Amino acid sequence: MTTIAVAEGDGIGREVIPAAVAILSTINPDWEWVPVEVGYARWQRTGSALTSGDLAMMKEADAVLFGAITTPPEGEYPSVILQIRKALDLYANLRPVRASGVDLVTVRENTEGLYSGIEWEEEDRACTVRVVSKKGTRRIATRASILARERNGHLTIGHKANVLRSDRLFLSLCTAVAEEYNVPHAARLIDALCLDVLLHPEAYDVIVTTNLFGDILSDVTGYLAGGLGMLPSANLGDRHALFEPVHGSAPDIAGTGRANPIAAILSGAMMLDHLGYPEEADLIEAAIQSVLLAGIRTPDLGGDTDTETFTRAVCRVLQSS
Ligand code: NAD
Repeated sequence: MTTIAVAEGDGIGREVIPAAVAILSTINPDWEWVPVEVGYARWQRTGSALTSGDLAMMKEADAVLFGAITTPPEGEYPSVILQIRKALDLYANLRPVRASGVDLVTVRENTEGLYSGIEWEEEDRACTVRVVSKKGTRRIATRASILARERNGHLTIGHKANVLRSDRLFLSLCTAVAEEYNVPHAARLIDALCLDVLLHPEAYDVIVTTNLFGDILSDVTGYLAGGLGMLPSANLGDRHALFEPVHGSAPDIAGTGRANPIAAILSGAMMLDHLGYPEEADLIEAAIQSVLLAGIRTPDLGGDTDTETFTRAVCRVLQSS
């Protein structure tokens, strides 16, 4: 039996992940869902946001469905999602954006760069080390090149090699790997890329870049899909996989029923695809489109439908298809 570890987390994670589970249960009712409580609320209750037992449950599962975690205002614990990505070695963060005339994927290196965790404070400054390793770059470049080849597409390498020595290594290795895989490729400075992808999104297919640049670029490309509530993502390693909406816990709307569950539901669809159910994943995407076309939308998309009503509408379309 397929086992999915479900970590709803905090805030709207507790609203959009149950929505995704409801949709996935309509398609694959025999999956086993294993709840894993992680995050700020858990930390407030028990003094621990994530334990080695939680990580073991995630490692044992076939995949993890993750909501979002609130960063404590006091800065008391290290980022839960960063710890999970590291422990499960989820080195590739795929952030697709699909909209009219747009079909692109940001492939973000997920374990090093400016998020390597090597940082310290001195009396008059704070320092964060940006690590770009040959191993880390080769494996993310390989993932991105294979994806571009599968899509019959092309690869854009987002970098800042004109300024950063670490990106000279990233650019030269990504170029070499793209050539090895015979994938058409081009290099773009990341700042120019952030503007050009908005002006000419149809010119992009797979974009590979380092950790922080990918984090920012994927929020920029999110504009093309209608905002944070629309953006799913996959975190992939060689042995484990975790799927999560790009957005955070949105404390400003948590508990109001205003959360858009599409990002979480599409993350579930990416999980289906990853586990070998591509047709079912397509059915979910089509069901969401048909509900949106019927004018049923959450407030972030200009509608007045709440999270549960939207989810029920998608379920109904799936049940009738
Ligand atoms: P956020 O993504 O939570 O919210 C940004 C804005 O977008 C808010 O106005 C919010 O209401 C809106 N929004 C986000 N998702 C939405 C949805 N599904 N439907 C409708 N509107 C939505 O980012 P933030 O406000 O910068 O962060 C809030 C908390 O989430 C912080 O504690 C932050 O650290 C955390 N965070 C966690 C993750 C994660 O766990 N992966 C990622 C990002 C932020």
